[in-house]
Amino acid sequence: MSLDAVLARIDDQLPAATDRLLELLRIPSISTDPAYTQPCSEAADWLVEDLKSLGIKAEKRITPGHPMVVGHVAGDGPHLLFYGHYDVQPVDPLELWDSDPFAPCVEETPKGRVIRGRGSSDDKGQLMTFVEACRAWREVNGALPCAITFFFEGEEESGSPSLVPFMHENADELRADIALICDTALFQSRTPAIVTMLRGMVGEQITVQGPDMDLHSGFFGGLAMNPIRALSKILADIHDDEGRVTIPGFYDGIPDLSPEIRAQWEALGFDWQGFLGSVGLSQPAGEADRTPLEMIWSRPTAEVNGIWGGYTGDGFKTVLPAKAHAKISFRLVEGQDPDRIRDAFRAFVRARLPQDCTVAFKPHGGSAASVMETSDPAFEAARQALSEEWPEPAAYVGCGGSIPIAGHFGSILGMNAMLIGFGKDDDAIHSPNEKYDLESFHKGIRSWARILDALSRKGAA
Ligand SMILES: [Zn+2]
Repeated sequence: MSLDAVLARIDDQLPAATDRLLELLRIPSISTDPAYTQPCSEAADWLVEDLKSLGIKAEKRITPGHPMVVGHVAGDGPHLLFYGHYDVQPVDPLELWDSDPFAPCVEETPKGRVIRGRGSSDDKGQLMTFVEACRAWREVNGALPCAITFFFEGEEESGSPSLVPFMHENADELRADIALICDTALFQSRTPAIVTMLRGMVGEQITVQGPDMDLHSGFFGGLAMNPIRALSKILADIHDDEGRVTIPGFYDGIPDLSPEIRAQWEALGFDWQGFLGSVGLSQPAGEADRTPLEMIWSRPTAEVNGIWGGYTGDGFKTVLPAKAHAKISFRLVEGQDPDRIRDAFRAFVRARLPQDCTVAFKPHGGSAASVMETSDPAFEAARQALSEEWPEPAAYVGCGGSIPIAGHFGSILGMNAMLIGFGKDDDAIHSPNEKYDLESFHKGIRSWARILDALSRKGAA
């Protein structure tokens, strides 16, 4: 068994692998639009046949929504699960595409060759990097290096309504030693990255009520409490001048970054000036004593997402409104419990409510952060394998948003998950003219071959 022979096979077979991806990209599997139910089913069929061609026992599994694809191959050593999604985003506005989103092609661009088409990056191209690595491995060695479960979803772009029930119903079948998820990007389009922390979220809508009815500010103004004034004061109180959240207990239990992670993040050389500059900003607005990467990955936030009340139409109305409203969300990190944060916020608001005002809260969402067990030797093995393939060493990174699937593997199946992907910031996922660099596809396949080699050889995971 030789990794070099597998890598050579991948190089040699890249045109054929690209052709297979183009075939999958021609199927318009838009999951959110019922008009594309049939193509979603066809994409699942295509994947079942492709897995079967690799000697994998695979089937299309029916759900109340779009089907899942599940495949298994037995083997020695660790049991890996690979997840990707075959559904894609809608293509509107179609007139902004330079070519037919479902007539994909390989295109020369000033930055190199790209595969153009809806789903090329998110997530069919990424999904196929793993499948093609398995194909090359099998062609060279006659079999895959370890037990692998393939798990492809067709509803990721439409909220994954069937995913959690399916994982519960098929937990014993899906459980493996570790999950590999290929649906993320290179850090700043160049550094291979393993996402090891995802922030959680809590949302709250609040309504502050003052008088029983809207009042005329000429009759009541100056005498009556204006609930917009009360609400604004409370919201302004959430942050101090150093960018810290002032809600009591908000930061309790949050661990500090390990020296290893801190060093990796420093080595990333995050261009925060460019990142902020790209949206017309110049100054970090988070906690003054934290780095910009900490602000978006490992520190919690409080943000007012909307605020309204009184008269906001054209012209003017000197109303003194009865009610004022706001939507507030908190991004959570390790150590923060969503219920505790919600309670602390409500207590913070109530403590600041003036006499004659009442408040009503409406909860929206509540999920804790996901943190991967990087002490699992599979992580270091994968990080080294990635570092061998790419010009820069791979890093453990955070993700300021949430990727629910990673949390589901932990909470439903008790599995650790490694999120590794090869997308670039300019892939235009979810937008017109989506592309995947041919280099990402090629090196992505080679990366998985190296990771398969490392995980199966070390018996890691
Ligand atoms: Zn995706």
